Amino acid sequence: MHTPVPEYLQEVLDGLSGHVDGAVADYIPELAAADPDRFGIALMTTSGRVHAAGDADAEFSIQSVSKPFIYAAAIMDRGLPRVLRSVGVEPSGEAFDELSLEQGSHRPRNPMINAGAITAHQLLVGEGATSAQRTDRARAFLSVLADRELRIDEAVMQSELETADRNLALAHLLRNYGIFSTCAHEAVAGYTAQCSIMVTARDLAVMGACLANDGVQPHTGNRVVPSDVARQTLSVMAAAGMYDAAGTWFSEVGIPAKSGVSGGMLGVLPGQLGIGLFSPRLDEHGNSARGVEAFRRLSSDMNLHLMTAG
Ligand code: GLU
Repeated sequence: MHTPVPEYLQEVLDGLSGHVDGAVADYIPELAAADPDRFGIALMTTSGRVHAAGDADAEFSIQSVSKPFIYAAAIMDRGLPRVLRSVGVEPSGEAFDELSLEQGSHRPRNPMINAGAITAHQLLVGEGATSAQRTDRARAFLSVLADRELRIDEAVMQSELETADRNLALAHLLRNYGIFSTCAHEAVAGYTAQCSIMVTARDLAVMGACLANDGVQPHTGNRVVPSDVARQTLSVMAAAGMYDAAGTWFSEVGIPAKSGVSGGMLGVLPGQLGIGLFSPRLDEHGNSARGVEAFRRLSSDMNLHLMTAG
């Protein structure tokens, strides 16, 4: 590629500026107020170079993009065998908020769907931890990855809690099957606080670069995630990160990714890059509509598909 990276990224954004398909998520009132035209992208290489274009510094709530990171934190806090007892690693092929659990074990199928993410949050810190400790662990861990202090947006959190019936139903079901013992309201409050942590596309690129760099924060040089945990997290992201479109996504784009209902997207290429993107209009699967197109373009222009030899 001969165009310098920042110009190239701007070109990708410009090429998609007329793409106005999809709609901003409206099941959480505070998200419905988002400016649909925001569009930002950032890349961070494992050597620590950051390139950004558009609204790369606009803040939005992380929502489901928090899920892979909190899964990583849960493994760090409790060990993989303990986490696997409560959350599986199989793609569900279903929507993110589906009320379904594995037959027999009643485990959520994976940590990228809400049932698995609510459970992963409950595993944080350790047996007997308080809600406040788990929430703080989530915020502090994401801050270490982003290399800046992140905050929880109370308005987003309250707004989501007002319409959290479906997540409450999931939490009741999980508690009923003994997947965790915290009361459903407390479990959903903790998970919702995690979803309300504010980030930018640039933050997501930096956080993704930590996973791409085998768990070492490229800016600080600190190991923030053990190598085997980074690998486990990326594997689950590749298998189940893009809701019910995960298989199509991986075959067509080939970049392990996670999207969220506020329009954020995270992509991670092991050994190469973290990618962060923000564009709030969502497609029918709940993925950022322009985000999906931008990733398709990056994958093809820069030959990023993981399954490409050489
Ligand atoms: N907090 C949102 C929910 O649980 C996250 C969903 C998402 O980003 O996919 O409904």
